[in-house]
Amino acid sequence: MEDKKQEKSIEEAIEGVREYTARRTAEAQKKPGVYIKTFGCQQNEADSERLCGIAEAMGYVNVGAPEEAELIIFNTCAVREHAELKALSLTGQLKHIKAQNPELIICVCGCMTAQDHRMGDLKNKYPYVDLIFGATSPQKFPEYLLNTIRRREDAHESRKRLFFPDSDALITEGLPVRRESSYKAWVSIMYGCNNFCTYCVVPYVRGRERSRRREDILAEVSELAAEGYKEITLLGQNVNSYGKDLYNGEYDFADLLGDICRLEGDFWIRFMTSHPKDASDRLIDVIAENSGEGKTGPRIARHFHLPLQAGSDKVLREMNRRYTSDYYLSLVKKLKEKVPGIGITSDIIVGFPGETEEDFEDTLKVLEEAGFDNIYSFIYSPRKGTPAAEREQLPKEVKSERFAKLLEVQNSISLKKNRAYIGKTVRVLVEGISKNDPSALTGRSELNRLVHFKGDEKLTGRFADVIITDADIYTLSGELAEKNETNGSGDCAW
Ligand code: SAH
Ligand code: SF4
Repeated sequence: MEDKKQEKSIEEAIEGVREYTARRTAEAQKKPGVYIKTFGCQQNEADSERLCGIAEAMGYVNVGAPEEAELIIFNTCAVREHAELKALSLTGQLKHIKAQNPELIICVCGCMTAQDHRMGDLKNKYPYVDLIFGATSPQKFPEYLLNTIRRREDAHESRKRLFFPDSDALITEGLPVRRESSYKAWVSIMYGCNNFCTYCVVPYVRGRERSRRREDILAEVSELAAEGYKEITLLGQNVNSYGKDLYNGEYDFADLLGDICRLEGDFWIRFMTSHPKDASDRLIDVIAENSGEGKTGPRIARHFHLPLQAGSDKVLREMNRRYTSDYYLSLVKKLKEKVPGIGITSDIIVGFPGETEEDFEDTLKVLEEAGFDNIYSFIYSPRKGTPAAEREQLPKEVKSERFAKLLEVQNSISLKKNRAYIGKTVRVLVEGISKNDPSALTGRSELNRLVHFKGDEKLTGRFADVIITDADIYTLSGELAEKNETNGSGDCAW
């Protein structure tokens, strides 16, 4: 009942904006443009695809430059200060575009704006921003935009700008979506986070964990597979706690993954992110059964992103991660034993408050022992409102030095790991012409590693076999295996 009511009000708001864009189209003899810039993680990219789909349903057309747009949306990130400063600086640059185009509506949304102090900054220091809302309410976007348009057109309305702190963290199914790629798709399976790691702002800006119903997820994945999507990435801040809020322990992420693997289609599945404390043996078994030479063949890409954050048990405790380095390493061992060939990547933070030289050495030790294929490393960035931000901070130089050392150690591990692929055949999903070499194609391996090779552009969006002939720290290169070439049309013999 609530769902139906909500659906109706979204439809009415979409219709309301459509009337406005139809008028603008008649005046300008072309549809008004929408320009969306996304900061931050894959979840934000997925949210932006929804916002773009909604904007198109409201009569806008997607454009590639802010100068061509009548609606600009910045979907922001708050995980580190750097991302916020970048979003604010680019928002500042919109001032002159707005001065030249009074019809322009500027909207800033997402995690950064879900924080009161940033909402305040935008209200007070960026008067040309018309609409601000947080990260949990994309379904409210049509209503917010319609109100903004109406206020602007109402001569008696003095408050032309609108600010919405996050209101309801509902899940709305069936919102329009405009996917960036025709062969790779994001599927959010849950939103929010309950973990409250002491450095992290996500639980504050994205709210508590909310899982989508399994039938909605399975229907979306089936549809994508039927449309020919080759890679489906399941998204959540901690996918391993999927279903806890809905199914009372009777259906979890391992079950969902198993059900998705049984769907028809020629695609592989990725998922992120997994919190180590919630990675169950059943989950590892499902991966083992459905990847590599498992029961259903290579259905799940053999890649596990398992954020470590720190190697010192003291720091892990202070981060509220709720595992030890020994537990973490035992998980890595189990994954490697049960899923031969699996690639493991991780997130590491250096310079957490109170991190000593010894603590940092512990991180390097775990790095060596785990043998990550790749890491995403971050210098700790204090986030307002989180417990760690209240603590005494380490000097900038110490953080930078540790960051450089971490990269140096990981680079040599990554190089060794990559060189071990030489002579082997890897399956890649072809992404098209290489950005650096127009005569080559690039693809992504199961591990999401960039692979360069010569081949027909028609292979784009398809799986291909590549024999690796060379490797550096970040990329592999090779040659198409014969079984691809004999397929002429680019169809792959999987
Ligand atoms: N839910 C995911 C991660 C979300 S944020 C998880 O638990 O893995 C992505 C990464 O950003 C985190 O894994 C962490 O390494 C990093 N990060 C989060 N907050 C940070 C902060 N305040 N400073 C530096 N890095 C941070
Ligand atoms: Fe942030 Fe921790 Fe939640 Fe990941 S699990 S989003 S790092 S609080």
